Amino acid sequence: MRGLSALVKPINACQKWIVPAGITHFSTKAQPKQWPRKIISGIQPTGVLHIGNYFGAVQRWVQMQESGENVIIFLADLHSMTMPYEPAQLRENIYELTATLLACGIDTKKTPIFLQSTIPQHAELCWILSCLCTMLRLSHLPQFKEKSAEVKDIYTGLFMYPVLQAADILMHKATHVPCGEDQLQQLQLAAHLAKVFNTKFGETFPIIEPMIGQDASGRIRSLRDPSKKQSKSDPSDQSRIIMRDSPAAIRKKIKRAITDFTSEVTYDPENRPGVSNLVGIHALVKNVSPQEICDQSKELDTGKYKLVLAEDLVSLLDPIRLKIEDYLKNRDYLDSVLKEGRDVAAQTAEATMKEVKSRIGVNILQNCR
Ligand code: ATP
Ligand code: MG
Repeated sequence: MRGLSALVKPINACQKWIVPAGITHFSTKAQPKQWPRKIISGIQPTGVLHIGNYFGAVQRWVQMQESGENVIIFLADLHSMTMPYEPAQLRENIYELTATLLACGIDTKKTPIFLQSTIPQHAELCWILSCLCTMLRLSHLPQFKEKSAEVKDIYTGLFMYPVLQAADILMHKATHVPCGEDQLQQLQLAAHLAKVFNTKFGETFPIIEPMIGQDASGRIRSLRDPSKKQSKSDPSDQSRIIMRDSPAAIRKKIKRAITDFTSEVTYDPENRPGVSNLVGIHALVKNVSPQEICDQSKELDTGKYKLVLAEDLVSLLDPIRLKIEDYLKNRDYLDSVLKEGRDVAAQTAEATMKEVKSRIGVNILQNCR
């Protein structure tokens, strides 16, 4: 996976995350039809957003929105049921996630946000695609292996969720999906299912291209174990910086972040993953290269360097935290945002399912009242 980032090169300012044609099997050559460019991305309401979600996904959505791209975002609540959860907590997480996206700069007049479960066609298309997907293919996906290791009872939903993810993307005929490296295999499955469907039933879906950061944003690592990525659902809350952390919490977590026994600040993700993760995060916060961060930190040992990083993170995150708190006071507004998003998504979903049903041969009563 690490090799992938090195292969990704900027195309232009607003497309700097695209994997160029020919690097993966998402080549644009595989798209005989020219589909209008459309970007979709989802995020699970499994907990409070962390800086991995922010740099790997949300910040890009905002940048794409600002450069005039056609972007739509969904809160993947059906996905968040694949692991044990509490209904009251899920409801709270949905509001919190909506508030966080708004606080990070998503403008729903330009970028609709919808809640996946409000569009029942997603689950319907998931079933149709599951009839084109082998169990063998699903069993190879790394996220299933990782997440199933955490639970005693493995539910079918956890096994199937990449098919639902493919349905989420194909339903809206998206051409590009910005995300972190952890999603690459699932996106490959979505592209595969689009190809299988198109070959069997006629061209219906674009073959999506993933948009993965070429810098550290593709995989922000855990502060407690840099061999893992930061995750909302990691049991250790010290492993991630969340968008609602107070300045004191940010300082404490960065101070305790795992580094190594060398005191110099260098960027060498292979041999010094802990300190390189911090430098990578810092480079994203300051919008400079990791080397520039190292050059500016020549005089500092890692202990003193952590203090500088913590203050820069506080400056970035504190205004966002305050905005999240404001949005959370107005639940009616958050409801209205999700309702508007649902209305936009429903139109596409109805049209897609009409087409899909007619292609697969089950459109018998489609024109009857
Ligand atoms: P969970 O632990 O519940 O799976 P998560 O932190 O992995 O939560 P998701 O909702 O699965 O978050 O993913 C939302 C988006 O954030 C996806 O585009 C994913 O690729 C991206 N993302 C998640 N974690 C990271 C990370 N550590 N670095 C960069 N991007 C990330
Ligand atoms: Mg995840």
